[in-house]
Formats: sequence, C-alpha cells, structure tokens
Amino acid sequence: MSILKMENIVKKYKNFAALDGVDLEVRKGQTVAIIGPSGSGKSTLLRCVNRLDKITSGSIIIGDDTLVSTINGETSYVKEDKVREICSKTGMIFQHFNLFPHMTCLRNISYAPITVKGISKDIAIENARKLLDLVGLRNKELAYPGQLSGGQKQRIAIARALAMNPEIMLFDEPTSALDPEIIGEVLTVMKKLHDDKITMLVVTHEMSFAKEVADFVIFMDKGKVVEKGRPDEIFNHPESDRLKKFLQIVYK
Ligand code: ADP
Repeated sequence: MSILKMENIVKKYKNFAALDGVDLEVRKGQTVAIIGPSGSGKSTLLRCVNRLDKITSGSIIIGDDTLVSTINGETSYVKEDKVREICSKTGMIFQHFNLFPHMTCLRNISYAPITVKGISKDIAIENARKLLDLVGLRNKELAYPGQLSGGQKQRIAIARALAMNPEIMLFDEPTSALDPEIIGEVLTVMKKLHDDKITMLVVTHEMSFAKEVADFVIFMDKGKVVEKGRPDEIFNHPESDRLKKFLQIVYK
C-alpha cells in the first residue's frame, strides 16, 4: 500500500528548477533513503511533502488524500484546513532539532498530542514515557533541551514526532549537525523504527544507513531522480556515470 505518491514534481525558484520532474513512491513500512550531492533538491523534495515548500506543478497524494494536483496545467492545493489534516499524517525531523527550549522533554513530547489532538493529559504522558523508553532517554524526562547533547536532543525530537502517530516520518539530514561520535546513537534509534516497520523517508549523507537499513534508495542530482533501487543495486551496481562518480567521491 502506498503511503506517499509524488508525480512529476516541479519546484521552481524564479527560473531555476530545484525539482525537475520528480516521481517518488513510498509504501507502508518502507524506509526510503534519498541521497545525492549538496544542492540536488533532496531537502526541497522532503519539504514539499508536508507543504513547508509549495510545488510549482505535479501531484502529491498522502495516504488516500490528494494534497495538490495539476490538471490541464493548473496546479491547486486542497483547502487550508484539509492541508493541515493531510500534513498531520507526517512527522518531520530537522537537522537542528527544533525542540521547545522552555519545556521539559516530557512536555516537548506530550504537548502537541494534548493541545492539537485533544488526548487526555494522563494518556499523553504515559505515551510520552513509552516513547522516552523507545529512544533510550527515560531518565531525561524532566531535563530541558539545553541540558542535553545534540544526539539526545535529536532522539527527543524523534520521540516528539512519533507522539503524533504519523503515517510517515520525514527526516531531513537528522545527523548532519551532530559530532561523528554521537551520530550512531541517532541511527540506532532510526534502525529500531525501521525494524518496527515505521514508514520513513530519510534525506541522509550517512551512506552506511542508506546501504544497511533502507529498503529503497533514491539518488538525486540537479533536481532529478537519476537512479533508484535497492541498496545493493545502488551501491554495488550503479548504472549512471553520475552515481558512480558520486560514490567514488563519497568513499574516497
Ligand atoms: P539538497 O537538500 O540536496 O542539498 P536543496 O533541496 O536544499 O538541496 O536545494 C536544491 C536547490 O534549490 C539548491 O540549488 C538551492 O540553492 C535551491 N534553493 C533551495 N531553497 C531555495 C530558496 N528558498 N530560494 C532559492 N533557491 C533555493
């Protein structure tokens, strides 16, 4: 079953196409990694899924709902309240965590379920504690973000996104702002989510994650999907010169 379908996505900034006819499908339970050189359009693609960026043309379907479509050259988004409803099926993890600095970890995680979803405080807190266990930070429930390491902050951000029970988790270079020695703790949590069949779309520079964890890998360059396939196909049998060159540079 397809959770996300993007068809012929074009995203222009003035005359420059950051995305130039991208097709992408993510199925339920899949972990899809998006790799490619800097500036190839990876983050833009991810940000278009939950309308942080608006596409110029194409169509995006999340679950059974069409977020935006292009018919006879006319591109239109659904109404604003419907956009919010559809985008609430996604959870986003940013490079720079974006936690609420004045809230404890427990409150960071339970705040949106209580205020946005109307879940009772007791249940939201019980759920937040389970998520703290999942990310290995149960002992930090009363800590504030400023008291955590970067890796711990990112694990709290993951727990916070999961608390809204999204159908797809979007990761925008989740480990890029972290010191090399703590990248592993975040990747371990993401591997756990993969094993739990949480659907994930991950923009990453971590080739080990793409190679060992992802079910499917998309290689982008200059706003286009140049190659896609299983990790073994992408990393061990690249077809295009552009992907071969990219892998040579990455593994140099
Ligand atoms: P990646 O994530 O692969 O590094 P991005 O999606 O961030 O690439 O960017 C793709 C291209 O779009 C880049 O050339 C970038 O400079 C351009 N771009 C991104 N955001 C904007 C913007 N707000 N205005 C103009 N150009 C942008």
